[in-house]
Amino acid sequence: MPSDETPRLGFIGLGLMGRPMAHNLLKAGFPLTVYSRSPAPVEELAAAGAHAARSPREVAAADVVITMLPDAPDVEAVLFGPNGVMEAARPGLIVIDMSTVSPVATRRMAARLGEAGVAMLDAPVSGGTVGAEAGMLSIMVGGDEATFERCRPIFETLGKRITYMGPSGAGQLTKACNQIMTAGIYAVMSEALVLAAKGGLDPAKVVEVLSSGAARCWALEVRAPKLLRRDLAPGFKASLQYKDLNIVAEAARALGVPMPVTGVVRELYHAMIVAGDGDLDNSALITVLERLAGTEVRAQGGSHGA
Ligand code: NAD
Repeated sequence: MPSDETPRLGFIGLGLMGRPMAHNLLKAGFPLTVYSRSPAPVEELAAAGAHAARSPREVAAADVVITMLPDAPDVEAVLFGPNGVMEAARPGLIVIDMSTVSPVATRRMAARLGEAGVAMLDAPVSGGTVGAEAGMLSIMVGGDEATFERCRPIFETLGKRITYMGPSGAGQLTKACNQIMTAGIYAVMSEALVLAAKGGLDPAKVVEVLSSGAARCWALEVRAPKLLRRDLAPGFKASLQYKDLNIVAEAARALGVPMPVTGVVRELYHAMIVAGDGDLDNSALITVLERLAGTEVRAQGGSHGA
């Protein structure tokens, strides 16, 4: 990528996260080429000034290609598959994968790209669609540090806390730690709210009280009010959270770290997937706990939780 001028960016995967991230890069003045499987967000970005590519191969003309896709097989397909980025990649190209994938898969992809002179950073994010829209994501980066520094202006457009974590895979391992925490919090928050509702408390009041004490957290402040309105739309899909907990399990097995609590949380998400609820927000895990307790959590009287 040229050091003295604004890099030309490519962006692949315009879903719940990728779409607002691509808009922010465009607004910041980066020349941007976009590709995604569904045409609607591609047309929207094109109307805002991006170049619409017809394949990942076409995106490879950029200096830096960013991917924001569901999982490793999707990233591998757009990089190495037919009409993929690698069919047209030049040495010196940088690939930044901002999807959440397994550290093992990341290192495998980085090694394969490296053979062609293409550098890869793993740069998964936290902060949800709210953080993506506001350009306030937390970004955790693995890979070559000098490449990371060259890409810093890109990361600073997308996030507020940008942290270099170490060599290839270190960003993804950090994200795995993040998912242990976020999924676990949803599980215990669900138990607390189900207990409150079945015990006759107003869950909205419970959320307010807990948000002012030691249990205060993002899930309580941002997602609990939506749950009380029965707004279960994603956000972050439960199917992707389950994918992330399987990544955690793979890393934990490889490193010899027993994870009894996260194992239970993973199975609760598994129950959600089996029930056909994988496209709901991951906070809708509460529905699993509600079924076990035979109750439903709603704000009383409609005046709270709006
Ligand atoms: P999403 O399902 O909303 O978006 C994925 C996008 O990729 C879709 O637009 C889909 O059409 C596109 N896509 C899939 N396969 C493709 C292919 N082969 N070629 C081109 N496009 C393809 O998912 P999302 O919520 O945006 O999440 C993306 C990644 O970010 C995931 O790894 C997720 O775990 C991670 N993540 C999501 C959130 C969140 O709050 N949603 C937060 C942090 C991290």
